[in-house]
Amino acid sequence: MEKKNPCIVMVLSPGLSHLIPLVEFAKILTHEDDELHVKLIIPTLGPPSSSMNSILNKNSLPPNITFTLLPQVNVEDLIITDENPQPATQMQLTVKHSLPFLHQELTSLITSTNHNILAILFSLFSTDVLDLAKEFNLLSYVFFASGALFLSFCLHLPHLDDQQQQHEHEQEESLLFHHQLTEKTTVHVPGCPVPFQEADDSSKNSLLELTDPVHVPGCSVPFQVKDLPDPVLFERSSEVYKSFLAVVKNYSLVDGVIMNTFTDLEPDAVKALQQEHDNNKGEKNVPFVYPIGPIIQSETSNEVNKLECLTWLDNQPPRSVLYISFGSGGTLSQEQLNEIAFGLELSGHKFLWVVRAPSNFGGSAYLSQQKEDPLHYLPSGFVERTKEQGLVIPSWAPQIEILGHGSVGAFLSHCGWNSTLESVSHGVPVIAWPLFAEQRMNAVLLKDVLKVAVRPEANEDGIVKREEVARVVKGIIEENEEGLEMRKRIKELSDAAAAALSENGSSMKALSSLALKWQNI
Ligand code: UDP
Repeated sequence: MEKKNPCIVMVLSPGLSHLIPLVEFAKILTHEDDELHVKLIIPTLGPPSSSMNSILNKNSLPPNITFTLLPQVNVEDLIITDENPQPATQMQLTVKHSLPFLHQELTSLITSTNHNILAILFSLFSTDVLDLAKEFNLLSYVFFASGALFLSFCLHLPHLDDQQQQHEHEQEESLLFHHQLTEKTTVHVPGCPVPFQEADDSSKNSLLELTDPVHVPGCSVPFQVKDLPDPVLFERSSEVYKSFLAVVKNYSLVDGVIMNTFTDLEPDAVKALQQEHDNNKGEKNVPFVYPIGPIIQSETSNEVNKLECLTWLDNQPPRSVLYISFGSGGTLSQEQLNEIAFGLELSGHKFLWVVRAPSNFGGSAYLSQQKEDPLHYLPSGFVERTKEQGLVIPSWAPQIEILGHGSVGAFLSHCGWNSTLESVSHGVPVIAWPLFAEQRMNAVLLKDVLKVAVRPEANEDGIVKREEVARVVKGIIEENEEGLEMRKRIKELSDAAAAALSENGSSMKALSSLALKWQNI
């Protein structure tokens, strides 16, 4: 009988931040085992962006990694009431609506090709794929493109939800209490212009009513409720909240969670997850975790603006430049864009700023492409006045090369997980400016746990004023005492990241144990 080639199927969700590490992970797997084939199956919400095209370009992928783009899902099908368009929910729904296509794709892979599928991996919001994994009797893994702390929170969420449910129950029983608790209060989360509100109807309560702070297993620092991920700040009866809860509950049903982190970055959270699994052995309600990171790009696939950025950086003094980027789709309000611009001018320091057109929702360009010229929204005369001081780049820059450049002294970042890992791996301290998703948790990790970041103070309207921008920029670039300490610590983490990926490093060991499991199928 003809020998079948081993194959791993990876189901993505829309969005670059999952595509980038999964493709890199596929490259590592196929490099380690040249018989292995990786098939990427990609649900889509719109036409592929230029960055996506360059990552999937045949010339940048080895021959044993192939991909299929599933037919586009109809955006109208994803409109979930009038709530904020939450990327997490949109990603989850895109995958859900793509399941029939995915079923067809898996059927043809299994029946008509010479592939022996060892396992199916899916990204963190794609757990609806689990049903297909069971139907086809495949080992199933979540590829968690975020950290151990966020995973620990996700696994803890059902308990928090129970707590809140209990609280609501008590509320209902006490009319007197009910009256007091239903006075509306507003919680303003920076990066999200629409304030979250405690509801005036007890059936619509949210976790915002939990007593601050929230303790997440494996984190010595407690979390303010407003620093929790966006979906859980919505009312418990909302689609956004319910679908997120459903996703995280599915984590207990998979064969493992592959986390893009490394033990020395999040030792307590990794340990807490491992212990939780060990303590529940046999019941299979806590997944086994594989910390295999940091998996980051070694070079940028999208070459746009590369030459201009790198040539400009070549002409700047060592560690003098602040790099500013809000990831693949982070956006600021017009007011905040202005304050950053004036704050940079006030600081007098060099900057390389990837600018995006403003929006009132922090993640508005994450799943849709902007058409406007972002530079048009900068304060009048800013580009001209700062032409000796800085470089503004519209929409996209070669981040990995920039962070690896000796002229870059700090990174003002939205704390997306890939950016977090890239900053750590390149030893660049951070000004943490989270916008949406789990970014505020990542900011807490960077600032309060790892102590490699500062976080500017926003005013009561959620705006960071220009004086505050200038203050944090000066502190980090001029290397005040705190700045020097941060640089030292992030350099240690950068060394630890390299060690984790070395031959006997913790991440390589985790990867080997995963590969061994697949070989023994
Ligand atoms: N990125 C880039 N150039 C840009 C913006 C982003 O190369 O101008 C890359 C960045 O290096 C990272 C990814 O896109 O690998 C963004 O992922 P992250 O998790 O940081 O943020 P997200 O896009 O999910 O908000």
